Amino acid sequence: MTHQGLVKVVIQCFVCGSMGPSQASEAIILRTRAYGEADKIVTFLTADIGKLTGIAKGAKNSRRRFANCLDPFTRVRVHFRTKPGASLAFMESCDLLESVGALVDPAKFAYGSYLVELVDQLTAEGQPIRELYDLLAEGLDAVRHGPATATLLRGFELRLLHHAGYEPQLQTCARCHLPLSSDAGVYLDPAHGSVVCTRCRDAAESLLPIGGATLAALTALKPLPLAEARRRRFPNGAAAEAAQVMSRLLALHLARPLRSVKLIAALR
Ligand SMILES: [Zn+2]
Repeated sequence: MTHQGLVKVVIQCFVCGSMGPSQASEAIILRTRAYGEADKIVTFLTADIGKLTGIAKGAKNSRRRFANCLDPFTRVRVHFRTKPGASLAFMESCDLLESVGALVDPAKFAYGSYLVELVDQLTAEGQPIRELYDLLAEGLDAVRHGPATATLLRGFELRLLHHAGYEPQLQTCARCHLPLSSDAGVYLDPAHGSVVCTRCRDAAESLLPIGGATLAALTALKPLPLAEARRRRFPNGAAAEAAQVMSRLLALHLARPLRSVKLIAALR
C-alpha cells in the first residue's frame, strides 16, 4: 500500500470509529505537508504529550480553525482528538500563540529549521519530555531575537542531547571513569559517542582528538541558558573543533541528513 493509501485508511478510521475526548496542549509546529486538495498533515511537538502527527482537515481553506497556525516554528494551542491504535491525531483547531515572525528572515529561517529538525529527529512520537519542548521554545526565541552564534548552537545541541537521554559525558573518561583533564589528551570515540582519556585510547582506533580548550568551552556552555550561551566566545580554533565534535555526537542519532545544514552552508 502506498503511503497516501495508508494515510487514507487511517483517516477513514477516524470517520467510522470512535475517537477519544477533545484534548488541548500548547505546541510548536515542526513540519507540515499538503494532503489532497484541502487537507494538511502536520507534525507538532506538544508541551504535555510529546510529538504528534495529525491531520488538519480542510486546513487549506479554513481561515477560522487554522489561520496562520500551521507554519513551522509557529507556537499554538492545538485542540485535537486521538483514537487508540490510530497513528494520526485529528486536529480540530489551533489558537495562535506566537507567529513565525522574524524567523521568515532567510538566516533565521535556516537556523530555526536546524533546531526544529534536530528536535524532530531526536524525539519519538507520544513520549512527553517537557524539557525538550521548553528547550525548543527557548531556542526559537533566541534565534528570533538575536544572532545564532556558534556558542548558542553548541549550547542548544548539548542540552538537546542531555534531555533526549544521550548526554555526552565530558568530565570523566567513558572507559576508566577517571576525571578528564583538559591539559592531557582527550579523544572522542565517534562510534559510541563517548570521550576517552589518553591512557585508554587504543592507537589502532580512529578517534578524534579534542583540544583542551574545546572540551573546557563545551563543558562551560552546557548548563547555560541560551541567551547567555550566545554571548560566550570560543577560544581561537575551538569553534570549528566544537562544531565537529557536536556534529559527530548528533550524527549517531540522526536517521537522515538535516536539510537545514545546506541552508546554513548557503548563507556563507
Ligand atoms: Zn580513561
